[in-house]
This record gives sequence, C-alpha cells and structure tokens, in this order.
Amino acid sequence: MAVPISTVSESREIRGLNLIAAHSHIKGLGVDPATLEPLSTTAHGLIGQDKARKAAAIILKMVQEGKIAGRAVLIAGPPSTGKTAIAMGMAQSLGAEVPFTVLSSSEIFSLEMSKTEALTQAFRKSIGVRITEESEMIEGEVVEIQIDRSVTGSNKQGKLTIKTTDMETVYDMGTKMIDSMTKERIMSGDVISIDKSSGKVTKLGRSYAKARDYDAMGADTKFVQCPDGELQKRKEVTHTVSLHEIDVINSRTQGFLALFSGDTGEIRSEVRDQINTKVGEWKEEGKATIVPGVLFIDEVHMLDIECFSFINRALEDELAPIVIMASNKGNSRIRGTNYKSPHGLPLDFLDRVVIVSTHPYQSDEIGQILNIRAQEEDVDLTPDALALLTKIGSEAGLRYSSNLIITSALMATKRKAKVVDHKDVERSYKLFYDSDRSVKFVAEYEKRFINEEGTVDFSHTNGDAMEVS
Ligand code: ATP
Repeated sequence: MAVPISTVSESREIRGLNLIAAHSHIKGLGVDPATLEPLSTTAHGLIGQDKARKAAAIILKMVQEGKIAGRAVLIAGPPSTGKTAIAMGMAQSLGAEVPFTVLSSSEIFSLEMSKTEALTQAFRKSIGVRITEESEMIEGEVVEIQIDRSVTGSNKQGKLTIKTTDMETVYDMGTKMIDSMTKERIMSGDVISIDKSSGKVTKLGRSYAKARDYDAMGADTKFVQCPDGELQKRKEVTHTVSLHEIDVINSRTQGFLALFSGDTGEIRSEVRDQINTKVGEWKEEGKATIVPGVLFIDEVHMLDIECFSFINRALEDELAPIVIMASNKGNSRIRGTNYKSPHGLPLDFLDRVVIVSTHPYQSDEIGQILNIRAQEEDVDLTPDALALLTKIGSEAGLRYSSNLIITSALMATKRKAKVVDHKDVERSYKLFYDSDRSVKFVAEYEKRFINEEGTVDFSHTNGDAMEVS
C-alpha cells in the first residue's frame, strides 16, 4: 500500500539540551566571512584554536553551499580543548534551515531501539527537505462587492469585482472570504490582496484612481497605486522539514504527535524507501530541494565496530549529511574488538575522515574563556579571583575551573558580597575536588572504599572483609 507522504512545518531538531548550559556563551565561529580567518574579537564566544576554527569555517561554507554531503570530519584533541564548543559554533552559524543534530555516542546504547536504527534516525534528522508550495494570491482594486442577502448564516455567497489598471475580473466568494472582507471593512476603492487557498483578504490601502473622490468625501487618505501588470500573483511558500520528520509522520497511526513524545519507535525500511522515492519525485518536479545538514557525534570513541561499519556505509548514501565527530582519545581500543587504533576509530574508517585537531590552551586563553563564562553566568570576579581561577584552569583543567565560578559565587553570596574574590575561589577549590586530587584521595584511602567485589577491606584495622549491600 502506498504511504501518503505528509509533512509538517519546520520543527528544528532540539540541539542537545544537555550541552546548552556549558556552551551557552558560544554564538558562532567568530571568523571573517570573506577570508574565514578567526577574528580577534570575543563577540562570538570562541577564544583561540585558530587553525581548528578556520578549518571548521571552511567545512561550514561547503555545507552552506549545499555542495558536499556524505563526508566525515573528526575533531581530535585532549579533553576541554573546545571540540564541542567549535561544533556548537558551527551549529550557531548555520542558517535556521540547515539541520544540525547532536548525538552523544553513549545515547546509542541506551535508546530502546537497535543501534543501527538510532543511527539511521540521527542521519535522517540531519537531512532537510525544503518544500516549495505555491499559493495563489490576487491583488487589485475593489470595484464592486455583491453579497447575496438571501444566503445567510454559515453559507454566505457573493461576487467580487476587482481590477488592475488593464483588467477587470469577477470572483465568486465563499463564506470565508466574505467574513474576512467584513472583518477588514473592505469597500470599493480599496486595494486588497486575497490568498485564494485560505480565503484571507488583506487591505493594502486605497486606490490612487479614486484619490480625489475620496479626498472630497474626507474618507481614508491612505492611497496606494493600483498594481499594474498581472492580476494574479503567485507567491511561493517554503518550509523545511527533516527526512526523519517525514518518516515519523508517515509511519505511525498517531502521526506527528510521535514527534513531540519522541516515542517514534523503529521505522520500517519500506516506509523509508517510499519516502525516499517520493522525495526524489518532488526533487525532479522542482517541488523540493535536499538540504544536507550536519550530524555531530560527540565521544565517537564510545561507538563500537558495528556502528562504525554502519556509518561507513551510510556515508555512501545519496541522502547523507556531513558527519562531524569528536574524540579525546589517543591510541585506544575500538569497542567490540581487541584492536587499538588512533582516537579509538577503526583504521579503514579513519582513512576516509579529515581530521581537525585542537590543542591545549595557553593560560591567557584560559583566562579569557573563564572571563566569558563568568559574564555568561552573571558572576562578577575580582582580578585576583580571575587570576586564581586561571591558574587552577591551567593546572587542573578548564572544565573544573569553569565549574568553580558558580560555586565561588555561592561562597561570596554566603558572606553577602556581590563580587567574588580569590578567597571565595580558594574555599571552593578546597571544598570541591578536581580529578587529580580525587585520584590521590582514592589512593590514600583505597582500603576504605567499596571494591569491585562489593566488599570493604578492613584488614588494615585487623577486621575481616565485610560484604556491603
Ligand atoms: P571533551 O573531550 O572532554 O569532551 P571538549 O574538547 O569537547 O572536551 P568543550 O566541552 O568544548 O571541550 O570545552 C569545555 C568548556 O570550555 C565548555 O564550556 C566550552 O564551551 C569551553 N570552551 C572550550 N574551548 C573554548 C574556546 N576556544 N572558546 C570559548 N570557550 C571554550
């Protein structure tokens, strides 16, 4: 049975809500639109990483021009070097029409569907279909309106004569159009436009042709020139939906509601085949264009060998997005195998990927990023507090130091201060451990922690090991 293809008006993919807080200061890639060179301004929220930003801007340009699809890019670099931030910058710079989907690799293993289905959905969320519809608009000056008084209630009928400078045409009106005209208080001499599909009438003004008469009558003095030329105008309405949205609407009895609940379940491949065929036909007929978007896969090293071989194949598809991945791993084991490989990606996959690298920050860059984060979180820092946070950032990591901003602000509030000073940062640093200190703490007190067998070793206290539930 043929599946009726329906679409919904644009419903943009929710861009990784869990990432919004950490990257809310990122407003774009911050590059010169002509040269694609990173700008020195901090207006877009991104600091440093010039090479990676320029590379990202080049990829972005290719995406925006709709020229490439089915390519894979890996952003590789140590933790907290802005890989996700750069991807978010790309997302912000893409027009609202280009889909950008964020997928955290661990999600693949937690969704109630197969890994390949989850990946297929992510791929199809990242392909936009721009659909163009034509709506018939009429524009002209009202010559005469006749409403059939014998037909009342919900069934009004009438005739409308409108003209342009060289043509006069009579239109049959239905209830909707008459109601709309009544609401707009349309009378002869008005210049109106009518959307024939909805029956909506809009008053554009009054005609020059009758300007003198109306002036004399002291009537409305807002005049517009009667449009000469075509009586009927065709206006184009475009909206973009993702392939996934079209899939969902056509695959379930509850239709588009499944888009809101997120409970889309697995979609049968026949449905997708039919949709691909239909979209292909629309494309041929000039009714639709394909907008390849971006699929961002964070922590890509978490994927397993089956996922990689799936992505490898999916990238060959005619309807494939640009896949941007991020990994902070060096040489590491590929999940599902015993092999080690750079960035945790299989070598044949790595072969088809272009790699953009991010590097550890200098301390002045860390200072600038922390300063932007503090502004974003509405926290005022004294120069000393910022200096201390920067030092902590250089030694214990940018993310940890960034987290201390809000905890230090809470310390300041406790002592009823409006500005955070270095003492607040110091207290916060002592109260909340970074990973290095936590590791040391575990090493020191290892015997008192619950071990993998679920027991605590009390032998150091001369007691026996005890089971812990
Ligand atoms: P991981 O490998 O651990 O996932 P990552 O390289 O993806 O790390 P991010 O999450 O992008 O790092 O960066 C950590 C925090 O620092 C985020 O809040 C991010 O927005 C901010 N940040 C990182 N680099 C920059 C930068 N160049 N400019 C502005 N903010 C940045």
